[in-house]
Amino acid sequence: MRKLIAVMFLCVVSFTAYSWGTTGHRVVGEIAQNHLSKKAEKSIKKILGDETLAEISNWMDFVKSDDSYDHTHCWHYVNLPDGVTYENSEKNPCGDIIKAIDDHVELLKSPSSTKEEKVFALKVLTHLVGDLHQPLHAGRKDDLGGNKVKVKWMYKSSNLHRVWDSGLIDLQGYSYTEYSNILNRIGKEDVVKLQNSTPLDWLNEGVALRDQIYDFEGEKLGYEYNYKNIGTVEERLLSGGVRLAGLLNSIFE
Ligand SMILES: [Zn+2]
Repeated sequence: MRKLIAVMFLCVVSFTAYSWGTTGHRVVGEIAQNHLSKKAEKSIKKILGDETLAEISNWMDFVKSDDSYDHTHCWHYVNLPDGVTYENSEKNPCGDIIKAIDDHVELLKSPSSTKEEKVFALKVLTHLVGDLHQPLHAGRKDDLGGNKVKVKWMYKSSNLHRVWDSGLIDLQGYSYTEYSNILNRIGKEDVVKLQNSTPLDWLNEGVALRDQIYDFEGEKLGYEYNYKNIGTVEERLLSGGVRLAGLLNSIFE
């Protein structure tokens, strides 16, 4: 029994311990920063001071080391069995990524929110819009969004979730500023198209990528998996950034 509890504990910890790695979140934040309207930029500066969206983007992962934020652990993801929509899914009583995004959009919009609450809401939104674009954050419960799928990534022990969080991104060897500059080559029309969508659309796009993500044999993943999937990772990072900006622009309109 004790062993079982230890295993369950490890599963929970390993599931909540990762999301887009530090570089991925900063890329999303930096791209968003570049697509803010003048008005949104000004309002955000009033809330954050000199800190940028890239700089606050990993805060929600860092506070996982602080017990007083335990209630936010389930905000990073949602579990969805194959063939079940979010609307029809059994909801986690502790919350999920869609609910957390909705709640903090409201908090930022509300004229009665304090500055402290707005700083918090901005940190939450910047992180979670990123997480929602990592397709395994809307994953299957039975393998904990790929956390239980053990693989060797470039000859080192890892799991599928971690490969998507950071393995593929880190393999490219770019800093977050280099990577966001490279990815942020997008025309106005495509920006509008990307922003004309809701968090539920972003979630459904991620779910639709499951077949592609799980399409490999054996446990060794490396250059071939990178070749097949890095384009998707980069599309998700760019979409996340552009849409985070769209969301913030609409909040501070
Ligand atoms: Zn996260």
